[in-house]
Amino acid sequence: MAELTAITDTVHFARTELVNWTLVTDDTGILVIDAGFPGQRDEVLASVRELGYDIDDIHAFLLTHAHVDHFGSAIWFAKNHGTPVFCHAAEVGHAHREYLEQVSLLDLAMKMWQPRYVVWSATIGVKGALVRDGIPTAHALTEEVAAALPGSPMAIPSPGHTGGHCSYVVDGVLVSGDALVTAHPVSTRTGPQLLPDLFNHDQAGCERSLSALGMLDTDVLLPGHGPVWRGPIREAAERAAR
Ligand SMILES: [Zn+2]
Repeated sequence: MAELTAITDTVHFARTELVNWTLVTDDTGILVIDAGFPGQRDEVLASVRELGYDIDDIHAFLLTHAHVDHFGSAIWFAKNHGTPVFCHAAEVGHAHREYLEQVSLLDLAMKMWQPRYVVWSATIGVKGALVRDGIPTAHALTEEVAAALPGSPMAIPSPGHTGGHCSYVVDGVLVSGDALVTAHPVSTRTGPQLLPDLFNHDQAGCERSLSALGMLDTDVLLPGHGPVWRGPIREAAERAAR
């Protein structure tokens, strides 16, 4: 099960070994930012219930990007429960699976001489990493939609990892997705970092977005992978750029 940490009165961080998501609550319900792998649906639902909400209280899923490890369980929620799914306008086509900006199996195969890639690939395979379904009902997050969601998240476009990757600031906390992470099962680094190049659609874009995130005035970072990081975001961005 995901390990839940209260970050503010309204923001909770759900951490798993593979990928994280963030829960934002108010008296009208709950917003889930990112959704884990398809096979993590029970963990996502358990995290919602741990906060005293249930499936009907989920206002929406808000995606940082449409990679399978971040939107997986939302495929099921959207299809079987009609839960709304939002992402940046430039990521909608990706969420619909009109195209795929995800590391290829061939690129991964080239890394299989490294044991941590072998272990990780086997683990995520079980969680549904090879699912190719899109979310046909995914929509662009507009200012009007954002204002009505729990926490009224502010979109911080951070393209690079994918073309329409977007981070969010909610209740003063940065939810960075994969634009800035603090660990990854295939990485030997710890602390703020970019993902390995092979996972990034546009490496130069990642570096530009990292600089932009570094200018935000927040001091809590909830990454897509790895633990919470506390400190000025500028410092996190500088460390990741090294
Ligand atoms: Zn990811």
